[in-house]
Amino acid sequence: GGGEVSPQPEERVNVIVRIRPQLYKTEGGEDNMSLQVDSARNMVWALAPDDDGSGRGKLPRQFVFDTVVPPDGVQEDVYEAAGRHIVESVLEGFTGCVMCYGQTGAGKTYTLANESAGHNAGVMIRAFTDIFDHIAQDREHEYEVTMAYAQVYLDTLSDLLSPDNDVQIREDTNKGVFLTGLTWRPCRSVAHAKGVLADGNRNRATASTSMNADSSRSHAILMMHVTRTGGTRTLLGKLYLVDLAGSERVKRSGVEGQGLDEAIAINQSLTTLGRCIEAMARGKKGERPPFRESKLTRLLSNAIGGNAKTTLIVCVAPSKRDVVETNSSLEFGQQAM
Ligand code: ADP
Ligand code: MG
Repeated sequence: GGGEVSPQPEERVNVIVRIRPQLYKTEGGEDNMSLQVDSARNMVWALAPDDDGSGRGKLPRQFVFDTVVPPDGVQEDVYEAAGRHIVESVLEGFTGCVMCYGQTGAGKTYTLANESAGHNAGVMIRAFTDIFDHIAQDREHEYEVTMAYAQVYLDTLSDLLSPDNDVQIREDTNKGVFLTGLTWRPCRSVAHAKGVLADGNRNRATASTSMNADSSRSHAILMMHVTRTGGTRTLLGKLYLVDLAGSERVKRSGVEGQGLDEAIAINQSLTTLGRCIEAMARGKKGERPPFRESKLTRLLSNAIGGNAKTTLIVCVAPSKRDVVETNSSLEFGQQAM
């Protein structure tokens, strides 16, 4: 070898499918569901897309995942399956990552970043709570928690906490991949962490308005570093929580200019992400996952596979009108298994 060590695929990504409930009159009610679920067996049957997208005339396709959360599943169920064990391993000094994939409107931001307290709180808020509860209960060690919040839009990185900063990806043989110019805010409580999340979410919305782009066109990456001192050795756990850009295929015809650039950039980064996750799942010897082919995957190269624990949450809409995107999202999840 040329001195470089490729990441060892030790563990594949954990794949969860979350089906949101029908929310809109236009989804057509119970008779217009495209999915059937057997949660006990982690199975889901999806109507196959027809030329007219109605799903008529073909047999439903069967998929099996690590967990399937049905439309009446709640945020707590998702966190139990997707988040809790990842947060625990971050507290033990490992790297963990939870990503939400899916078409716009399928529930990615609700699942991950929903800021409301209690029953509806998303994975991020629940992770903050578990981390600071653990810290409060551990009397033997000192902890330091810092947070950063970045965005990738059109393959350009920005800082959601200090939007004027110039953020660059660097690589170092000791540190691996890291970002320069990114603001790291110290956090001492759940309230602090929520404040950082709220600031970043607000900037994500503002930035997209001024760029005349929808926030669904960008990837948002919340990062937490948890440093534990006071024992025989110092531990540094890293948590990545990633709200991916909408995966919907944009038809080339009828889209020009920025819309087309966005569609190409999103397609490129999500396809590369899929190839990296698949390569980890297959564990092919000698085949290096193409992490370097997009900013998103370079940034996540330490967070997927290797020693990292990673969960992919595939969010899908439940109704026939979304059958094409639902099939494509389930296929994305399947290739990671
Ligand atoms: P995405 O981020 O994938 O574009 P959102 O998270 O914004 O989708 O969800 C679209 C809408 O559906 C939002 O109004 C959100 O609050 C709602 N929603 C999504 N998932 C659920 C759910 N499981 N239960 C209730 N409402 C949901
Ligand atoms: Mg969203």
